[in-house]
Formats: sequence, structure tokens, C-alpha cells
Amino acid sequence: MSLLYELRRLAPARPLTAIEAYSVAERQATLLLQLSNVTEAPVPSQVVSGLPFIKVAVRMPMASSGASKWIKPRWVVLLNGLEPPARQRFSLAHELKHVIDHKTSNGLWRPWAENPIARRRIEQLCDYFAGCLLMPRPWVKAAYCGGTQDVVELAKRFQVSPQAMQVRLLQLGLIEPYERCGSNDLYFRSASSSIELAA
Ligand SMILES: [Zn+2]
Repeated sequence: MSLLYELRRLAPARPLTAIEAYSVAERQATLLLQLSNVTEAPVPSQVVSGLPFIKVAVRMPMASSGASKWIKPRWVVLLNGLEPPARQRFSLAHELKHVIDHKTSNGLWRPWAENPIARRRIEQLCDYFAGCLLMPRPWVKAAYCGGTQDVVELAKRFQVSPQAMQVRLLQLGLIEPYERCGSNDLYFRSASSSIELAA
């Protein structure tokens, strides 16, 4: 049984809710790490580039961060060589999710393919998969709770961009959105005192 088949079979053969799709993405990332025997950060890019059904090529310049296309007998993933290595790693993982979901995207999701909102959702799902693969939930939590709460430091440890680490910390509920700081906090304090007065 091929590894690609094993990753694909984690997704039920029916339309998924967003929550289901995100859950499947995380399970696929976890399975790939397990099958690759990778147990600590940073996740080597070879986890993706070494897959037998993937060939990676770097292009300069490129109009996007990455792209993937089936060119028999395997998938060719193009990466933008002008982008920093951390971003190329993320793009590589992102493109793998497109490859995994190729059948789904061409089948069940086909009616949405021309819908820009649906396409944006697919891109976000691929980003989420990349985050799960390069910044596995338990590893990030252990690093963050183990004393390294500096986003830049964490990003270095996991070899991702600080922006990607910031998003992952938000997803895991380890930090709060910027909007919750400052004036919004004042708003919540005043709101709770209003509730007390009203009670
Ligand atoms: Zn994409």
C-alpha cells in the first residue's frame, strides 16, 4: 500500500465539514511524521521532498510561492527560489496537501473549483496542514510550555517563519489575537462590570 494512498484514505469519501477537513489534515500530517520516524523539530524537508511520488524543483522567479502538477510518473512541486528557506519549507508542505487532496479537489469539491471563496478555503486548509506537519501540536505545546515563549526563538527551532509560528500559536490557543489586547480588554472589563451592576 503506497504512502499516498494511506494519507488519502484518512479522508472519508464524502464531502467534509470544515472541522472534519481540518481534523483529517492534522491526522494526515501526524501519520506522515510517524511513518517518517521524525520525532523532534525541525522536521526535515526530506519528509516531503524524499517521497517517491514527489519531485521538487526550484524556480526563479515565480509568480507564486509554490505550485504542483502531475507530470507522469510523479508530482512535480515547484518552489519559489527567491523566498527564504523557511517559507520554501512551508510551501513544500502546503503543496503536498494539494497532492493528497487532488482526487477530492477534482471530484467532490469540483463544483466549488471556480468559486474564489472555496479556493481560498482550500488554500487555508493546505496552510493548516503545513502548520501541522512542521509544527506538530504536542511539540509546539511542549516547547512553549517548557519555557520558550519567544515567537522568533520558536520559529528558529522549528525552522519556520515567525509569521507561521505566530499563526500556529494562535491555532493552538497558546496566544491570543492582537485584537484582544489594549482597548478591547478595557472593553471586556467594562462589560463585565456592567453585568455585575445589572445582576
Ligand atoms: Zn495552494
